[in-house]
Amino acid sequence: MKTIDDFNFENKKALIRVDFNVPLNENFEVTDDTRIVSAKPTIIKILEDGGSCVLMSHLGRPKGVQEVFSLKHIVPKVEEVLGVKVKFASNCVGEEAELAVNNLNPGEVLLLENLRFHNEEEKGDLAFSEKLSKLGDIYVNDAFGTAHRAHASTTIVAQFFPEKKCFGYLMAKEIDSIDKVLNNSEKPVLAILGGSKVSSKITIIENILGKVNHLIIGGGMSFTFIKAMGGSIGESICEDDKQELALEILKKAKENNVQVHLPIDVIAADAFSNEAHTQVVDIKSIPEAWQGLDAGPKSLEIFHQVVMQCKTILWNGPLGVFEMETFSKGTIALGNSIAEATAKGAFSLVGGGDSVAAVKQFGFEDKVSYVSTGGGAMLESLEGKTLPGIAAILEK
Ligand code: AMP
Repeated sequence: MKTIDDFNFENKKALIRVDFNVPLNENFEVTDDTRIVSAKPTIIKILEDGGSCVLMSHLGRPKGVQEVFSLKHIVPKVEEVLGVKVKFASNCVGEEAELAVNNLNPGEVLLLENLRFHNEEEKGDLAFSEKLSKLGDIYVNDAFGTAHRAHASTTIVAQFFPEKKCFGYLMAKEIDSIDKVLNNSEKPVLAILGGSKVSSKITIIENILGKVNHLIIGGGMSFTFIKAMGGSIGESICEDDKQELALEILKKAKENNVQVHLPIDVIAADAFSNEAHTQVVDIKSIPEAWQGLDAGPKSLEIFHQVVMQCKTILWNGPLGVFEMETFSKGTIALGNSIAEATAKGAFSLVGGGDSVAAVKQFGFEDKVSYVSTGGGAMLESLEGKTLPGIAAILEK
């Protein structure tokens, strides 16, 4: 796996695909700079080598050129995070971009305008990719969040740099973390899958059954399993048409010697509301008109024991409706258990969507080994797919 450490960037222009698709408020100020901060180590290493950086990214989903999606809005934030002045080119290809690149000196950074102002970007257009390729000597992909898209800047452009393409530090870290969980894991390995739907996680489950020793199934998706096994789940969320699939998963898990842990008790509520009345009940006998919205104390104790036994932990999806305080305790308790296991030497990866939000909201970010920056890209990796953005760098 070639990374920026395999190149000396002295007097070289690095064309770097970053993921600066950051949220902006109504004054066009960046409200969360995580993605810019994540790309910083790559940019700084290239500048310190004596190279220059040409940064390309998309922002939002513009239809053609739309001022509100201009990347010029984020220039001050990028300058603040990097601690260097950032030049801006108001088109990502063509004469203006080429002139700006030609005028770029070692140690300087240039940000190109939103790639998606050209619809060729998402189409993965070859001629557009070739135009982009004129803007650097070495192509660096550090945008994990878009690595599952075969767009011009994330994938197709790489073919114009047969010997001069590599991963940035962020991409390398994401790839390494997935590898540590799925391929080179220290045993016992535990996957915790929560969230609302079995259907959205089924491909992940199928891919990991041959790779894990323990599987915790929590959150809304557990009710489909409980109902399929004959339990009464009241009004709890359930995908009736996935019950057979749930039983199939349990069977396959057994065949693979995977120990499956489902919740045994839940916090049941009489309404989907933070102010609802609640009671702790057996998950197999939830009263009619009540719904399970969080894991119960006995389940959390079992989950804690399992987490503490494991050396590799993957967490995707909350154990309850963590957005409501009343039903956030299970997810917080699980976060605490994972933090404790991590402090004792386990490797823990949190990835994909809502568990990342939960980890950030409850302050576990620094207590787990790695929090993935890519929602969809991480999910597709866990499904066992080779991401086009990664394949494009690895291809000879
Ligand atoms: P997902 O996007 O599939 O990972 O699901 C995340 C969502 O699942 C979060 O918004 C949670 O509120 C929701 N969720 C977790 N547990 C439950 C539950 N017991 N009932 C309903 N929704 C849940």
